[in-house]
Amino acid sequence: MYIGIDIGGTSTRAGLFQSLDSPDFAPLARFPTCPGYEQQLQALVNAVRSSGPKYLAGIGISIGGRVAKDGSSLAVAPNLPAFVGKPLAQDLSQQLACSVHLAHDPVCGLLAEKKFGHLRNCDTCAYLTVSTGTGAAIHLGKTSTSLTLSIEIGHQLLDGNLLPCLCGQVGCLETFTGGKQLELRYGRPVAQIAAIEPTLWETFCDKLALGLVNLAQLTRVEAVAISGGIALNNTFLLPLLQQKVNAKLRGASLELSPAALGEDAPLVGAALLLDIPGETILH
Ligand SMILES: [Zn+2]
Repeated sequence: MYIGIDIGGTSTRAGLFQSLDSPDFAPLARFPTCPGYEQQLQALVNAVRSSGPKYLAGIGISIGGRVAKDGSSLAVAPNLPAFVGKPLAQDLSQQLACSVHLAHDPVCGLLAEKKFGHLRNCDTCAYLTVSTGTGAAIHLGKTSTSLTLSIEIGHQLLDGNLLPCLCGQVGCLETFTGGKQLELRYGRPVAQIAAIEPTLWETFCDKLALGLVNLAQLTRVEAVAISGGIALNNTFLLPLLQQKVNAKLRGASLELSPAALGEDAPLVGAALLLDIPGETILH
């Protein structure tokens, strides 16, 4: 039995997998992410001990922050500041007596979509999450060799953009596509912004299309699975985005599709961390 855990800035979910050959899992726990590291660690241990199986092959964790190069802890996590530098993998492994693997959430989302979703037959592909922030991971593979890594797609600079980003740079893509930044600028939830700013989604897709064309030209990625609350709740965005990408991109093509596993992709991909060689992930 395997456990996949998805730790986001607001909530944590865990699922139990009988096998890693299927994306099906039994929900194990769901609770608000504790802001303190020790409380969160204890909540995870309790959840696994109270409803987990007797024999556990391992735990994979998808987490909302960039993981340190050695894969042991979080290196950068604006939404989980108390976790930065804490030995999460080692602490959980000691308390639950099994191996624990950790990766940034878009990496896990990509692994799940690569194994079970629309990216199945593509060796150069990406996973994009359009939510509070704008995150992505890319997978570059050839026969038996591959590398999967998360990238800061939301913090690429767009020429002429003078908006300050929450990351400290000026001109980032995420100033147009990040849910948190849009809400701060307009003073209301994303779902209510279009009522006062009719060009919201047109501009959103124009800017995101630029970011995706840059991605295709810089990495040779050919397919992107798109997830995240903003994309999943506004399904009209994807065809508009595809149209804008097609109008700009030359010498290559980029096929956009919704993440087949929806919001479960990071949790499913977390469990898959137990089944793939660690050296194929560049943290
Ligand atoms: Zn930025």
